[in-house]
Amino acid sequence: MIRLIRPYISFDEVEADMRRMFDSGIFTRGVNVEAFRADIAAYTGAPHAFLATSATTALWLCLKRLNIGPGDEVVVSDFSFPATANVVEDLGARPVFADVSLDTYNMLPEALEAAISPRTRAVIAVDVFGNPTGMGLIAEICRARRLPLIEDAACAIGSSEGGKRCGVIADMTCFSFHPRKLLTTGEGGAITIHNPDWVEWFNRKLSHGAQGMLGYGLDFVDFGYNFRLSEPQAIMGRVQLRKLDAIVAERNQVRKAYIERLAPAGFVPQQIGADVVFNVQSLVFRVPERVDRDQLIAQLREDGIESTIGTYCMSATTYFRARYDNVQPNSEHLQRTTITLPCYEGVDIQFVCDSILQKSNF
Ligand SMILES: *Cc1c(COP(=O)(O)O)cnc(C)c1O
Repeated sequence: MIRLIRPYISFDEVEADMRRMFDSGIFTRGVNVEAFRADIAAYTGAPHAFLATSATTALWLCLKRLNIGPGDEVVVSDFSFPATANVVEDLGARPVFADVSLDTYNMLPEALEAAISPRTRAVIAVDVFGNPTGMGLIAEICRARRLPLIEDAACAIGSSEGGKRCGVIADMTCFSFHPRKLLTTGEGGAITIHNPDWVEWFNRKLSHGAQGMLGYGLDFVDFGYNFRLSEPQAIMGRVQLRKLDAIVAERNQVRKAYIERLAPAGFVPQQIGADVVFNVQSLVFRVPERVDRDQLIAQLREDGIESTIGTYCMSATTYFRARYDNVQPNSEHLQRTTITLPCYEGVDIQFVCDSILQKSNF
């Protein structure tokens, strides 16, 4: 089976640090966590970084920081994994779905403008499949409207727009380290922020509301949660972050080779801006009109090739459709017509593309 993804980490790479960790007996709140946190700040260029258990808990906590609750609205990119809207829903606020570009798959500026109401308290814009194209413009609109912008960069570690890495474009940025992303710690996430006044708040809330050192001197100055990443996870993360730029370059080569073969047959790749570095978390195409996407996925499976849909039209999920009845057309179209293809160095591109072209009668 040709798999969709391959993890960029091996046991050999973490063995020495893992052994040191076991010898020390420190599995949480140790040197690796602090180092990984500093690495994330240094890599993204963000002044402040925090580690978390997932992008979902990270997004949820950012909304908490903004005191989002009942009666509030948060504009969200509609073409995304449902976690993006679930966190809004969980806090009793209303996710207002903004439609996306059929080319970049990201939030349309005009859809954002149209979705803003007197109740709007924040915006969550997604770097779909790691693509930050247009995020700078969304950030400008949010600044002009005095709306805080949370970037759901769950897929986007390693990407940048206009020389700004994901992590420094929005007011708050959330990353995921789930195995389906480029950098994985099993589960895990991170938050970057600009505002120095929020640093202590995030430190406290991520760790039971505590301030100070463990043991003597620890004081619970607030209530909080435990959304901490652990030492083994930090070891895994650090190893991959060092290689990330090389991985991104490699994936762009693979993307280019796919586009050369598939574009002439009418497969349209996700578009990126000229000033964008795209990490290619997922390699996604819109299939030509003559092709039944679901059938193509099934046929590729017969050839031993794993593929999948793009992602979800959140406004069309059973839950959100029943609750808000506000399906966004472009997002719905993308849910029906996009396909994700195997992407990593060494994948047999010729074989996959030959199979696709044959199955789609080209
Ligand atoms: C994967 C993903 C999430 C959820 O990330 P977790 O770390 O699994 O919580 C949220 N938003 C988007 C856009 C994602 O792709």
